[in-house]
Amino acid sequence: MPLIPLLPIFHRLNRQYFDGLLSKDLKPLVAVRWSDGRLRNTAGLYRRSKKGRQQYSEIVLSTPLLINLPYSAVESTLCHEMIHAWTDLVLGIQEGHGPIFKEKMTFINSLQENFQITIRHQYPVPNRSPKWWAICPSCGLRFPYKRIVKGAACKQCCDTNHDGKWNPSCVLGYEPFLKEA
Ligand SMILES: [Zn+2]
Ligand SMILES: [Zn+2]
Repeated sequence: MPLIPLLPIFHRLNRQYFDGLLSKDLKPLVAVRWSDGRLRNTAGLYRRSKKGRQQYSEIVLSTPLLINLPYSAVESTLCHEMIHAWTDLVLGIQEGHGPIFKEKMTFINSLQENFQITIRHQYPVPNRSPKWWAICPSCGLRFPYKRIVKGAACKQCCDTNHDGKWNPSCVLGYEPFLKEA
């Protein structure tokens, strides 16, 4: 699924479930955007910060996590973050996933069957394969590593052959990790 424009969905959800309170004169109270490639640990977030004297709030949806998921995942994630924006900007309450959040979530879930909002965004985080094999020159064991750690040694060899002390003979070497077909 290519990235879809979020504002039309925002405005529709705002009308349907938030009495239009999340916009003023058709302008959203909160900025809504797709993330760049970096937001990987959550499907979406809401945040408010101060830029100088100005309050600035935004909803960011994770491009890498949501791009391959169905439309309903985008809707439920956006709606989840809109509840945060609503409790914060409209009600003036900061409670995270507290009772007001849960009540609103349950209410919206009960009104329709297109998507279900959850407390935690339950989407699979795509596996990123490790970039490197770390290889012990002493015992030959291989360990998948995300990045090269200079001077890291094979624990097993240090433990068994060198009284648990670091020894240059078991400093790991690296070779690129090739995905098995
Ligand atoms: Zn949340
Ligand atoms: Zn070893």
